[in-house]
Amino acid sequence: MATNDAAVPCPFCGLGCDDLSLTGGSDSPRLEAAGCPKAEEGFSLALGAPAATPAIAGRRCTLDEAVEHAGRLLAEARLPLFAGLAGDLLDIQAALRLAEAAGGVVDHRNGAGLTAAAAALQAGGLMTTSLGDARNRADLWLLVGDVPRRFPRITERLLEPRERLHMDDMPEALVIGEAPPAGTSGGAFEHLPVPAGGLHDFIQVLRARLAGRHLDGEPDAGIEALVQRLGNARFPVIVYAPAALGDHGDLVIRALGGLVRTLNDSGRAALLPLGGGDGDVSAHQAAAWHSGFGMGTSFHSGVPEYDPALWSTGRLLASGEADLLVWVSSLDAAPPPATAVPTLVFGHPASRFDATPELFVPLAVPGVHRHGVVHRGDGPALLPLKALTASELPAGAEVFERLAAGLGTEVQS
Ligand code: SF4
Repeated sequence: MATNDAAVPCPFCGLGCDDLSLTGGSDSPRLEAAGCPKAEEGFSLALGAPAATPAIAGRRCTLDEAVEHAGRLLAEARLPLFAGLAGDLLDIQAALRLAEAAGGVVDHRNGAGLTAAAAALQAGGLMTTSLGDARNRADLWLLVGDVPRRFPRITERLLEPRERLHMDDMPEALVIGEAPPAGTSGGAFEHLPVPAGGLHDFIQVLRARLAGRHLDGEPDAGIEALVQRLGNARFPVIVYAPAALGDHGDLVIRALGGLVRTLNDSGRAALLPLGGGDGDVSAHQAAAWHSGFGMGTSFHSGVPEYDPALWSTGRLLASGEADLLVWVSSLDAAPPPATAVPTLVFGHPASRFDATPELFVPLAVPGVHRHGVVHRGDGPALLPLKALTASELPAGAEVFERLAAGLGTEVQS
């Protein structure tokens, strides 16, 4: 159990801050001055819900009854869809094993972003860097989309860190896209709204001008100034969250990859994709280890079939092909998508519902009610999570192992 003076890691976004602190001891812990609204919300919601009761169609039941009911529905389902998957690595690994045992499909709530990132990587490769390298060496940051809102402490952790290799040479930071929210720490951002043509076209124009090509029409003074700054920078780093780039995210990522390749023709530059913090990077890594594929994989035929467009949550629910939705979300209390398909929720003890699900099994929140592990948003680093308060809530892996055993398959961990 974490003590008052121990640094507390945070699982609620991809920055993976590990410097929070608690007061009040393990009996009544409170987050101390995190300065991060996302962390305050995530920790206070979970700390305020150390217990919850399972329910079948809204009626309270025991965990044994809930597991028995879920096992029956999973055994009867033709194509169960395991979606959400906003948990830590331990939750997701066990959920994947259960999905395979049940012959189901797996898709993360940020599946579109994961698919876009994989498609862009497959199409032409991407030149990326890590959080640590970028923090130590970048002299110009380009934040694309809603990065400051998604990662509330990004200014403090990356742009104005307490420790850095080159403290005498602090970087510039530009945001292209959504304006940083009011009160964002540091006020260090320069904001450039996306021009009417959209982000993809804007990046392509930037790249063409950096490569020295002349374009029709009057030169745009803003673009010309940005071209000059990028060209003059020693190590510009472009940060984006694949989960936030929308329907054509793969095209935007490919354009950003092309921009970085052009910059590397005469200098050094890199991309820094950041996972959204709903366990999406852990889910992606776990799926790759489990089946060799990412999210958007079906185990229905007995062998893994990867096709993220075919096996997407939205399509499977809209078409009626999935006849059971298994919503896994131990990190987040947001409701599952509205659907006529019976829904089993294995989720945050403070889960909210727009409609009463067929089953609700509250799970321990990793990093609050139990130890756990989650990937940081840049991928390679693992963040060990601590149990902060006493709780009898079951871990997701424990519940999923019981269910897989009931389906006749022991879950191998
Ligand atoms: S920035 Fe992200 S990881 Fe850091 S404290 Fe806030 S929510 Fe947690």
